[in-house]
Amino acid sequence: MRGIALFGKVKFLDTTLRDGEQTPGVSLTLDEKLAIARGLDLLGVQVIEAGSAMTSEGERQSIKAIAASGLSAEICSYVRALPADVDTALACDVDSVHLVVPVSDLHIERKLKSDRKSVIRKAVEVTEYAKDHGLIVELSGEDASRADHDYLVSLYTAGIEAGADRLAFCDTVGVLVPENTYEIFRSLCNLGAPVSIHCHNDFGMATANTVSALRAGASQAHVTVNGIGERAGNASLEEVVMILESLYKIETGIKCRDIYQLSRMVSRMTRLPLAPNKAIVGENAFTHEAGIHVHGLLADTKTYEPIPPETVGRKRRIVLGKHAGSSSVELALREFGIGATKDQLAQIVSRVKELGDKGKRVSDADLQTIADTVLSIQMEPKVRLKELTVVAGNTVTPTASVKIQLGGSEKLEAGTGVGPVDAAINAIRRAISGVADVRLEEYHVDAITGGTNALVEVWVTMAMADRKITARGAGADIIMASVEAVLEGINRLMRLEEEERSRVQD
Ligand code: MN
Repeated sequence: MRGIALFGKVKFLDTTLRDGEQTPGVSLTLDEKLAIARGLDLLGVQVIEAGSAMTSEGERQSIKAIAASGLSAEICSYVRALPADVDTALACDVDSVHLVVPVSDLHIERKLKSDRKSVIRKAVEVTEYAKDHGLIVELSGEDASRADHDYLVSLYTAGIEAGADRLAFCDTVGVLVPENTYEIFRSLCNLGAPVSIHCHNDFGMATANTVSALRAGASQAHVTVNGIGERAGNASLEEVVMILESLYKIETGIKCRDIYQLSRMVSRMTRLPLAPNKAIVGENAFTHEAGIHVHGLLADTKTYEPIPPETVGRKRRIVLGKHAGSSSVELALREFGIGATKDQLAQIVSRVKELGDKGKRVSDADLQTIADTVLSIQMEPKVRLKELTVVAGNTVTPTASVKIQLGGSEKLEAGTGVGPVDAAINAIRRAISGVADVRLEEYHVDAITGGTNALVEVWVTMAMADRKITARGAGADIIMASVEAVLEGINRLMRLEEEERSRVQD
């Protein structure tokens, strides 16, 4: 590929906790921010923009906690060109500041009500002030992609003379294209300081532009986990890293196998679900359905996978529906350690197709139930619900009590939660906690019909150790449908574990 040689050593500044947290509706607690910062540090990100110290007292406490947590990464705060901003950052004990200065006339005149000269003067003053106080300074041009290029260069040059350690170029409203990004960065790389690229995804080009800048010699990419950020978001960490690693064969130093886990954590804590078709980390990125593709996968997984899912800490999933051919069913059964003869397989396939024709997606538990029937396997559920009581309302903490039949004995447990469904599931998890450590990874409800008397379908993804399965429950009562799905998942997981153990003993 042309231009590969231009890549230098690439570093990552992750701004999930600053630009990512500016996503509309997102607000993270101190503990959540600390957990994400630890995850980023373990992943190998070099700089963590932990927040903007001026924002609030809570924000300052979070930044301070992150700075004090002994991470290897450089901890950075966003600041404006104001000495007071630098003071608050200093009070949080950060290593560096991301000093952001508007550089387009639009921002300078309309937003700042200032002029080009004053902006340079302030940038220089505050850079010197931050340097005098021992901070690493990354001087950043906001809206640089719509700024006058010569003006931008004169600001950067003045900043370097004032002691700025690094520069950053922000495509604040995501209007760059890869070609001009490349040209711009070829010219900025000779200024005498490393330059970062900060891209927004308004036209879906954040990742492409970031890679283009890196190819042209940018030394650091600003990224966020899952590409979260203001409006359409920022360049996504997982995409940029995997493009460099897998397509350009560049070692980034990032521990790619931990990417998926961190992505799930950020999605959960920010309450921002991912589009199923999101590259690398979306639910469908390594999920296969259509019969013909699975046939290829059976022969060699490389046929329809650009990288093995394990590279980013994921597992291949086979989803069955009416397109399912015998190859897909065979592959799905194989993932569960179920072997079937040709005849049995044909019967299982026709039953799967029957479900698919009714417009149903076939859960892992559905497939196992069908296989049990066809293979005449008697399965006694290990966990059975005997009683469930739920209390909810405006003045009580949602509380559930359950009586569970567990093997030969009965167990009574209670649990609380944010709502009645959560309380019921927590109570069940407690009741079985001595026997199995089961996690609920995903929970999804569909109203099949309209109205408050609607029939609902609940889908859950349950996990035990590193095994995951999907299960489903349906009914007019959302709590009972949820409990049914969760119990089905628990029973299937416990049975799979038992089978695995007996295989090991054989
Ligand atoms: Mn931004």
